[in-house]
Amino acid sequence: MTGGGRPPTLSPFPARLRAAGVVGAGGAGFPAYIKARSRAEYVLANAAECEPLLKKDRTLLEYHPEKVFDGLELMMRSTGAAAGILGIKKKHEKLIRRLEEIAGTRKNVSVAKLGDYYPAGDEHCLVYDLTGRVTPMGGFPLDAGCVVCNVETLYNAALSDREPVTAKYLTVTGAVKKPCTIKVPIGITYAEAIEIAGGLKIRHAAGIDGGPMMGKVITDFNTLVNKSSGGIIVLPRDHPLIVKKVRSRPVFSRIGRSVCDQCSFCTELCPRYLLGHSVQPHRAMRSLMFAGGREKLHSEFALLCCECSLCSLYSCPENLDPREVCAAAKADLREVKTGFKNSALNTGRAPAPHPVREERKTPVSKLIRRLGLADYDTDAPFLEHDYEPRRVKIQLSQHIGVPCSPKVSVGDLVKKGSVVGDVGPDELGCPVHASIGGKISKVNEKYVEITA
Ligand code: SF4
Ligand code: SF4
Repeated sequence: MTGGGRPPTLSPFPARLRAAGVVGAGGAGFPAYIKARSRAEYVLANAAECEPLLKKDRTLLEYHPEKVFDGLELMMRSTGAAAGILGIKKKHEKLIRRLEEIAGTRKNVSVAKLGDYYPAGDEHCLVYDLTGRVTPMGGFPLDAGCVVCNVETLYNAALSDREPVTAKYLTVTGAVKKPCTIKVPIGITYAEAIEIAGGLKIRHAAGIDGGPMMGKVITDFNTLVNKSSGGIIVLPRDHPLIVKKVRSRPVFSRIGRSVCDQCSFCTELCPRYLLGHSVQPHRAMRSLMFAGGREKLHSEFALLCCECSLCSLYSCPENLDPREVCAAAKADLREVKTGFKNSALNTGRAPAPHPVREERKTPVSKLIRRLGLADYDTDAPFLEHDYEPRRVKIQLSQHIGVPCSPKVSVGDLVKKGSVVGDVGPDELGCPVHASIGGKISKVNEKYVEITA
């Protein structure tokens, strides 16, 4: 058995979260102990799951609602929050009735119903919809007195006194034989997850790792499952969504420069703009026209973009890529050390939501049709399975912060739950653990391989 370095000095619950490797399971991968040691008025459990086709949060709540509420209460106690609110879409009526029953047995905990719009799970949108508070521009939910946690993060937090994070809930859907939601050991490949789901239905497939809006296209299904994976959506390689998502910067820049007519629909429907934040993707698009051969974009109107993709995949009538342009502009601005704090747009003004924000919310049903995913919009029920991988690769970078250093060597024997990588005591991050027992068969700077 091996172990990590000396952990930082933390109070018991944050220390427990760090030791168990609990990080944001909704895609962000932010170490949960940092949130647990902050002071907040509200803890918000994010069950909005607004990415089309993904069902893993709903499934987890169907099977382990008590544990999620346990995690919510632990986080409330740790942060001193007076209230905990679980936000979930009102379409899940039966599940909500069960959740309300459980909430009724707990203190200062409630369930709030959200509309079926995208991106209801964006943390700034969630903070506003659940508390009526607007997160300051360039700030975090904590600046509005809130800690936001995905429901799987809270589930892992509740288990953290007994077991570290070694498994992940995933939805495997799209062109697979049995769309489903499964619990799998961290470190298997998506190819293995797809086999559990009956295998591919098509020959020339690509996948979207995560939801169709914010997920990344993969053509290699040997991509590893990690702590913040949400699922895989398998589509034909020539599906318009795949084609659009892999457009390179020169291509989307050239098309954007010649086609954008500055209609500003991208801005008018942008969820952060509708919260009153200074993000205006049409003005970032305008900067394409001035970039010339230099190709660097310095539009500060991109700085507060959360890269939700609504502008690129829904709003723009010309099928352009304002999201990619905003992401490129943010990267270019980072090079010249410009962030929102030192931006000319940082006037200190408190944002006020747009008066027609409610009317401009994007229904997920319309979004699914616009994405060309209506044929794949099926249920993905929980599937019990007995798959035991022969080999896993535990990635050393599964969280925001400093990647772990390996704490094992080839030939070491590890048990399920052993620490195989950790960060330094004063670094942002937390350990990674063996998801199966076995022998260490490979160690490099990216992963630790365990063979059963
Ligand atoms: S919606 Fe499209 S065409 Fe209109 S301003 Fe935005 S990027 Fe340009
Ligand atoms: S991706 Fe587009 S819609 Fe989403 S926050 Fe950024 S600019 Fe707004």
